Amino acid sequence: MFNVTCVTKDEIREFAYKSGIDIVGFASPDCLFKYRNLLKNRYENGLSCNIEEKDIEKRINPYYFLKDVKSIVSIAVSYNIVYEADSPKSAYGTISRTAWGVDYHKVLINLLEKLRNFILSKCNDAKAVLLVDNNPLLERAIAYNAGIGFYGKNNMIINEKYGSYLFIGEMLLNIFFEPDKKIVSKCGSCTRCLKACPGKALVGEYKIDANKCLSYATIKKGYLSDDTIKKIGTRVYGCDTCQDVCPFNKTAKRVIKDEFIPRGLKPKHDLKEILSLNKEKFQEVFGPTSASWRGKNTMIRNAIIASINSNDKNAIEPLKSLLDGESSYLRGYSAYALSILDGENSLPYIEKAYFKETDVSAKMFMKKAIKKIRGEVFEDNER
Ligand code: SF4
Ligand code: SF4
Repeated sequence: MFNVTCVTKDEIREFAYKSGIDIVGFASPDCLFKYRNLLKNRYENGLSCNIEEKDIEKRINPYYFLKDVKSIVSIAVSYNIVYEADSPKSAYGTISRTAWGVDYHKVLINLLEKLRNFILSKCNDAKAVLLVDNNPLLERAIAYNAGIGFYGKNNMIINEKYGSYLFIGEMLLNIFFEPDKKIVSKCGSCTRCLKACPGKALVGEYKIDANKCLSYATIKKGYLSDDTIKKIGTRVYGCDTCQDVCPFNKTAKRVIKDEFIPRGLKPKHDLKEILSLNKEKFQEVFGPTSASWRGKNTMIRNAIIASINSNDKNAIEPLKSLLDGESSYLRGYSAYALSILDGENSLPYIEKAYFKETDVSAKMFMKKAIKKIRGEVFEDNER
């Protein structure tokens, strides 16, 4: 076993806190093996979404990433910043707090790199692998086992001081440290998150159906169901509802972190601006944030849905441009949105687009739009 006297847990914590990390905990690399059956159960019951890694072993086995791993250092950084978002007069789409500032992956990897350099300066032969959401491991479970916080009924990790607005990351280390103690849930009889969840994704206490989660819906590519379109409201990236209602977040410590203050992107972003995004503008506004990873068209699709749900008449002109755009599914969605927002006025535009359209799904949406305007019934199997 590696010499454990080269650096202590206290020294690591002290350095981490000075660097800007808010919470540090230590877990055993074997702490995830007990989740094998739980994951199997989730997959078998269709509770996982398609961006989740399906190979269970990769989700629970840190030895894949560092074969002589002896400990996992879990870190958490609060994004509960002191900042009040403006409410614009025009219709807007809401963006989750996770994406307000600089992409948190970069922020956390920088902090972990500093911590690794510190450990290397003390322990020459140390090996460390840094992970921030770029791996299939159960990161929240690592944080829980490292004593970062307890599991809330909303499936988030809640720290009594900082609440649950926490970015988490880990360092796999070939140095053994005694694991920290887990914290039992302090939710008590509270069920606010379950009641408030707009997607009805919290299907039980500590149980989430990822396919119903609206946060996932905003990043899922392609067409969404009519039910999801209604439930998503004006969310254009992520969903914070189950955290916003949590009493632990009402009393959580607020932090001052310049990197998480929104710059080009606004937490309540003008819908017309999103609908008119080109590649360059998307890169300028969303590129530096974590909201950019699913691409421009997914963001525009969400803005189309938000314009329907907020009855935004200002969206009509940009929607007409999208009807003639490069993306087939945005053409389909804009036809549908126009049928709701502009009715008969847009019928000639939608009909013209319908006759030109070659994509089957877009054509289906356009037909649905045309029939809606004409007051005719649309059958789901129609094309
Ligand atoms: Fe429900 Fe939104 Fe929380 Fe998902 S993120 S579980 S939809 S409240
Ligand atoms: Fe727990 Fe209530 Fe917070 Fe949900 S809202 S995580 S039940 S304390």
